[in-house]
Amino acid sequence: MQFDVVTLFPEIIENYCNSSIIGRANKLDIINVNTINPRDFSKNKHKRVDDTPYGGGAGMVLMCEPVFDAVNSIKEQKNSARILLTPQGKPFSQEMAIELSKKNQIILICGHYEGFDERIRQNINAQEVSIGDFVLTGGELPALCLIDAVSRNVEGALGKIESAHEDTFSDGFIEYPQYTKPYDFEGYKVPDVLLSGHHQEIKKWRREQQLLRTLEKRPDLLEKVKLTKEDKLFLDKHIKQK
Ligand code: SAM
Repeated sequence: MQFDVVTLFPEIIENYCNSSIIGRANKLDIINVNTINPRDFSKNKHKRVDDTPYGGGAGMVLMCEPVFDAVNSIKEQKNSARILLTPQGKPFSQEMAIELSKKNQIILICGHYEGFDERIRQNINAQEVSIGDFVLTGGELPALCLIDAVSRNVEGALGKIESAHEDTFSDGFIEYPQYTKPYDFEGYKVPDVLLSGHHQEIKKWRREQQLLRTLEKRPDLLEKVKLTKEDKLFLDKHIKQK
């Protein structure tokens, strides 16, 4: 999986992508993160990449030419996706991360200042993606969120001790609670079923916890997932008892 990130601040991307689990996947060549700086494509003698907005107003706007030239310098592979990071885009989700993990290459275009000249958005041929209904100073954190969430779903990126399959959202539910040693922490104990060694009982308890947590924290998710007959019976019983 190749990530090409068009950014005015490559060091932000590089620092994160050389650390921890993503850093290990990068080192093992399971993912490859490359940065391209539009400043290197500026024809201005001061390497300017932004200018004041036509019509007036605060802030600076990223100019077309250095952004187009930076994106066009990337060798595009088969099965690649172009993504423009913007708060105006489609909200990013786990589902999107899984879909994108099937690509060979993802090109991420980060804005800064007041954002992009509108002609970039209209003509760069990219999907517009947002990481949430809030505005950040630049597209680097959104790009990193996307790189991280997508990489976790690339085969081999997570070591043996981490798993993406049972995480929250992976199957449409909130994850069941997890515990580790000690069994008794200042009187707070681990549920006995987890120490029972009874795999069927543990599986059943975890499923029920997933259902309860999703009902409690994100009931909207229950409308989108497929519930089994047992799931429905369990939830109905729980709701009636309340
Ligand atoms: N003026 C722009 C607007 O209202 O849509 C916001 C510009 S923002 C200050 C600067 C850059 O940060 C954007 O071009 C985008 O690349 C990035 N950015 C900020 N918030 C974001 C979000 N929620 N999701 C994705 N990218 C975001």
